[in-house]
Amino acid sequence: MNSVLETVEVRESPTVLPNLKAIGYAARHCFSHLKPFEFERARAGEREVEIQVLYCGVCHSDIHQVKNEWHNTVYPCMPGHEVIGRVTRVGSKVTRHKVGDVIGVGCMIDSCGQCEPCRAGAENYCESPNSWLATYNGPMIPAEKAAGHANIYGRDNTFGGYSNVLVVKQDFVLKIPSALDPDAAAPLLCAGVTTYSPLKRWGVKPGSHVGIVGFGGLGNIGAKIAKALGAHVTIFTRTAHKLEEATQMGFAAILESNREAFEAAAASFDFILSTIPEKHDINPYVALLKRDSTICVVGCLEPLEPVDNMEVILHRKDIAGSLIGSIRETQELLQFCAEHDIAPDIQVIRIDELNAAYHKVEKGDVRYRYVIDMSSLQASA
Ligand code: NDP
Repeated sequence: MNSVLETVEVRESPTVLPNLKAIGYAARHCFSHLKPFEFERARAGEREVEIQVLYCGVCHSDIHQVKNEWHNTVYPCMPGHEVIGRVTRVGSKVTRHKVGDVIGVGCMIDSCGQCEPCRAGAENYCESPNSWLATYNGPMIPAEKAAGHANIYGRDNTFGGYSNVLVVKQDFVLKIPSALDPDAAAPLLCAGVTTYSPLKRWGVKPGSHVGIVGFGGLGNIGAKIAKALGAHVTIFTRTAHKLEEATQMGFAAILESNREAFEAAAASFDFILSTIPEKHDINPYVALLKRDSTICVVGCLEPLEPVDNMEVILHRKDIAGSLIGSIRETQELLQFCAEHDIAPDIQVIRIDELNAAYHKVEKGDVRYRYVIDMSSLQASA
């Protein structure tokens, strides 16, 4: 750990240019609506790029964070980690991006680069005292919870993509294939890679039987990715309308309340991905797994209902979790979606519709991801 603290640069060489005047939408406290918020961003260092934000997806994590549901929110809280933008300026040592490129920024804007996961290209599992630096809300492990109260990034808070401009290290900036529509590409940067990474990790392949639990932002794109990998996909939803919509999209679908359908599907799935955003009972889904198969829970970042371990033991089943995906996996996913002509279903909104959109996401009433057209920001600010 000490070697990391000694070797990580707090920030790459700042320029002599004055800070960028920036504006975005932020929450001041856990009960507050998101409102226009003016702030400044330091100009790009040698290895950083400045980005005009064009589109930003609305992830359920943004809502958890604004409401402090994970008990780690730093205010003001300006979410946004599904960012599509255009490069407006590059630092003198930037080689991977140039002015005018359409690029993406996901959940991470830095990591220690020194630990074993970082060196292995799995920076989303960075083991430095603060883990990775999130696009918003600062280091994943804040200084007060870090070993030795370290803050290797020198920043307690970061402001995300609900803003007109971002400044990001070039290694954390994704190239967006020209075949992808920029607005629909935004959710790939979090929802997409959060589902792609476990689908690949647990070997989903042609003929696999895959269950996707919860048909929201993650569920919608996760189902499309699994299908493109060749899997037979079943959506589990509590919402009758979505059952019909899933069927129309070419997926099998089962209502969460349909116990007869659950009994008929017992021990028939190779992999199940749960995207439900709160505490829930996974036992009915564990029963659907074949022997030696895995349920991966990505949606619930809190204790689950107790698991009947008899079922797990008798059929050697696995219960797992997964955290977003690496930069390499995200780039791979963007290429995969371009090649397979898949994209999430989105609804484009103005930024002044954001608070109403949050309400709808919480009710599970979005089809299937809101994406903010950031050109609406100047008009509403
Ligand atoms: P959404 O709200 O868009 O989708 C979640 C879906 O789950 C809903 O549409 C609904 O689908 C279903 N659902 C919601 N509440 C319940 C409930 N109480 N019981 C049963 N089903 C429910 O959220 P996202 O897809 O954006 O995110 C899902 C979760 O994943 C969030 O908690 C988010 O924080 C987390 N996340 C985790 C990441 C990771 O790295 N592990 C990364 C990104 C997000 P239906 O109507 O079909 O039932």
